[in-house]
Amino acid sequence: MQLATLIDGAALAAALRRRAAEVAARLRSEIGAAPGLATVLVGEHPASQVYVRAKARACDGSGLSAFDIRLPGGISEARLLGEIEQLNRDDRLDGVLVQLPLPRHIDPHQVLGAIDPAKDVDGFHPVNVGRLWSGLPTMVPSTPQGCIRLLRSVHADLAGLGAVVIGRSNIVGKPLAGLLLQVDCTVTVIHSKTRDAGEICRGADIVIAAAGQPGMVKGNWIKPGATVIDVGISPASNPEGRARLIGDVDFPSVSKVAGAITPVPGGVGPMTIACLLANTLRAACRRRGIADPAF
Ligand code: NAD
Repeated sequence: MQLATLIDGAALAAALRRRAAEVAARLRSEIGAAPGLATVLVGEHPASQVYVRAKARACDGSGLSAFDIRLPGGISEARLLGEIEQLNRDDRLDGVLVQLPLPRHIDPHQVLGAIDPAKDVDGFHPVNVGRLWSGLPTMVPSTPQGCIRLLRSVHADLAGLGAVVIGRSNIVGKPLAGLLLQVDCTVTVIHSKTRDAGEICRGADIVIAAAGQPGMVKGNWIKPGATVIDVGISPASNPEGRARLIGDVDFPSVSKVAGAITPVPGGVGPMTIACLLANTLRAACRRRGIADPAF
């Protein structure tokens, strides 16, 4: 029997996208053009194609202009850096993001570091990373930002809660740990070399799983009543052979113990895209000296 409350990421994301549409409409009338987001996809990584299509669709749905830039997988790093330089200079664009992963011959650090920090709506530029850890206004990466919004829908006050983050990537785990510190959680980060992850999770009020390990978090890892956020997305198929996505949390066992839990799909995923729209609109305002819109 499921005891946990389901955290409806799809509904929260829909509300955020509606708010983004209002802000975009206001900006269109103030600046005479739709705020613009460029997504750069290098090569034909199948999941990445799905993600950039979803981002373009979300832009269309909220009145932002999407610029879908496709580059061949064999492109040299120097040419890619040249393309990014052009996008940095393109006045129609408020946000520029490069879809990861990149082909192996390209250094992602060089590429992410080449994006104008003011247009870095993914928040992966070292300047924006440093600003996040210094507690300064920055571009907060979309997935961790979405996780904090999901947590706030459950906890009016996060101060003092013990939070465990599973995963230490630059995209999810590390920025999420920084954000949880900012809201006064006591934060522990678990990674692939951590001993006895289950024991550590059992002491936590909040567990956020971002390891890319399907079903690794079991019910006996969770303190009764804890909040569990599942960032993981792994491709799988159901018994009839149809493709589906599964998370890092073993939903059947964890939902019997947790107080609140996100589903996969319909939890973190939709929030990530809605937060990206919000970031693009923040960037559009900041470039023009307009106060940050409230989201
Ligand atoms: P990553 O592979 O870059 O990082 C995974 C992290 O998990 C690493 O830091 C690693 O140390 C840790 N890890 C791996 N195995 C572990 C284990 N057994 N125990 C503890 N820690 C372990 O992945 P990522 O880019 O951070 O993504 C993580 C997951 O989140 C993936 O499934 C990805 O698809 C998903 N994701 C979802 C969204 C979304 O919008 N829902 C966005 C980004 C990533």
